[in-house]
Amino acid sequence: MDTIHITMPDGAVREVPLGTTAAEIAQQISPRLAKEALVARIAPTRSAGGAVPHAVGTAAAPDAAPEAKLTSSNGEGFLVDLRAPIDQDVKLSILTPKDPEAIQVLRHSAAHLLAAAVLELFPNVKLGIGPPIDTGFFYDFVRDEPFTPEDLARIEKKMRELAAQDIPNERKMLPKPEALELYRKWDQGFKCELVEERAIEPMVSFYTTGKFIDFCRGPHIPSTGRIRAFKLMSVAGAYWKGQEGNPQMQRIYGACFYTQQELDEYLHRIEEAKRRDHRRLGAELDLFSVQEEAGPGLIFWHPKGGLVRKLMEDWLRDELLRRGYDLVYTPHIMRLELWKTSGHDNFYRENMFGPVEVEKDDYQLKPMNCPGHILIYKSRLRSYRELPVRLAELGTVYRYERSGVLHGLLRVRGFTQDDAHIFCMPEQIELEIEACIDFAFAVMKTFGFSQYVVELSDWDAKHPENYAGSAADWARSTAALQTTLTRLNIPFKRMEGEAAFYGPKIDVKLIDAIGRPWQLTTVQFDFNLPGRFGLEYVGEDGARHQPLMVHRALWGSVERFFGILIEHYAGAFPVWLAPVQAEVLPLSEKFADYAKKVTAALKDAGFRAHLDDRNEKLQAKIRDAQMQKIPYMLIVGGKEAEAGTVSVRHQSKGDLGPRPLAEFLSDLRKQADSRAI
Ligand SMILES: [Zn+2]
Ligand SMILES: [Zn+2]
Repeated sequence: MDTIHITMPDGAVREVPLGTTAAEIAQQISPRLAKEALVARIAPTRSAGGAVPHAVGTAAAPDAAPEAKLTSSNGEGFLVDLRAPIDQDVKLSILTPKDPEAIQVLRHSAAHLLAAAVLELFPNVKLGIGPPIDTGFFYDFVRDEPFTPEDLARIEKKMRELAAQDIPNERKMLPKPEALELYRKWDQGFKCELVEERAIEPMVSFYTTGKFIDFCRGPHIPSTGRIRAFKLMSVAGAYWKGQEGNPQMQRIYGACFYTQQELDEYLHRIEEAKRRDHRRLGAELDLFSVQEEAGPGLIFWHPKGGLVRKLMEDWLRDELLRRGYDLVYTPHIMRLELWKTSGHDNFYRENMFGPVEVEKDDYQLKPMNCPGHILIYKSRLRSYRELPVRLAELGTVYRYERSGVLHGLLRVRGFTQDDAHIFCMPEQIELEIEACIDFAFAVMKTFGFSQYVVELSDWDAKHPENYAGSAADWARSTAALQTTLTRLNIPFKRMEGEAAFYGPKIDVKLIDAIGRPWQLTTVQFDFNLPGRFGLEYVGEDGARHQPLMVHRALWGSVERFFGILIEHYAGAFPVWLAPVQAEVLPLSEKFADYAKKVTAALKDAGFRAHLDDRNEKLQAKIRDAQMQKIPYMLIVGGKEAEAGTVSVRHQSKGDLGPRPLAEFLSDLRKQADSRAI
């Protein structure tokens, strides 16, 4: 009998009959593994026999249905069904819920379960595609009537029924003509089209789940019983093959996780995200607006938002000066020629507003601040003694973004970058990078973030022709970024080949209060612009040299960072940033005088206080102040007036009891000055 050799992850080699399946091997290892196994990863070892591996168990056949993106994500081998017979020597891993790769297989199988359930309830639907996505799956259908929320509830119920029946997901191979005939008879035109286009081998791979049959490369989990923690989320419109003009389909989205707890946590995060949506809070708290009359993606900062912005900017400008930056201002519109020199007119054109003609000369609204800072650097000859030159600007730029992708403060057409450019000598880069990182961490701490992810993006060293700068430039700068992160004990992920063409960079992503990452700080070398603009400095040797240039932004933009802050704090800013820090609430009109005195004392001490002297019940006033997320409410009546106290109520901590006014003031002073979070 023919045997094959299976190398397990621990290096142990098993000799088994040809055609043994991963499920059988799992069973041999332990019944528990067999029960937990979802899918297998195999990589041919090619050692014995020297045979060129054809598809193992045919599962590697590239008859990719569009949904099949399941080659192993770690690049080693590919995923196959547990029931696929193994027909050559391979390295084998049996994947369980512990393996991150297996979840996408579960989700893909959940998509099939969805289609199977829809077909039971709506036998005449036409099927599109159904891939796994980040948090679950979707499937596209054509149906004359829209799917209603009630339909979704019925479909989900049917999915649970089918899951409980533990129906096997079975793989079948059909000759292509038979496959086409099958779908033609079934009147599934989209599937015919897929088979026609994508099946490049004579045999076509199908999966059945009960009555449902799908053109699909797989792999899938063995049966439906493992799909437990899922929920149908929504229906959205989609075009067949994602192309406008193609038939419209209804896309049903579902969330799917291994456990109910993971699903519940995900659903909770979605609810939290809705509650924190900066667009809704921006209107409720009267912070900012986008005005249709003025155009999409352009932000109007209302008085309260404007006040928060001033506080943010004041902190930033003070820090910039303290850290040796110079503040500059550059024009919003400059000759188009400048953008030709910089190269933006070429490689960045599609993100730029169109040029404007003035006196037969073309001008360009700026999408970047860099060329402006370069012109300041170049305005006179620089000596090595002046370096590093650090030019900072809260620089407003305009970029063309398609209206479909605009999103509140997060994706806009006009925004103000907290931009800076550092021009320095090669021997200075490590200190400069360290200072940038230190500054970035000061931003995080000051604005109340404690978690972050750092990525270092390097070039693809195999293709130096795609990049500006020499190999020496790249090596030196990447090493500076890397040693700085290592020295500062900052964990980071190295992203080979992810750098822009002009230089390596460090990106810092913040993790917000509900665990979402936000790309924020970027520190980026530029080996392109100094050459294009002929930048120089006179070195110690009296000769001219080209300085290194670093772009860096900490918040990214004021708008975006403000949006992130609103969501992070759910609108309840800490005392130092709150547009109103304390709201004074007299118990009744009788105490108006004392309430005015308290308000005046707060204002005299430099606080942002407001007196609610409306003729409303106290409860209503408290509710409104609470809605406005004002940190402190000071309730004053007869007792307080007599004793010179205020009854303090905190936005989240509730009633804190009466305090002498002077004591409250000094406490508030401490909180504001220390920028307590
Ligand atoms: Zn599939
Ligand atoms: Zn720049």
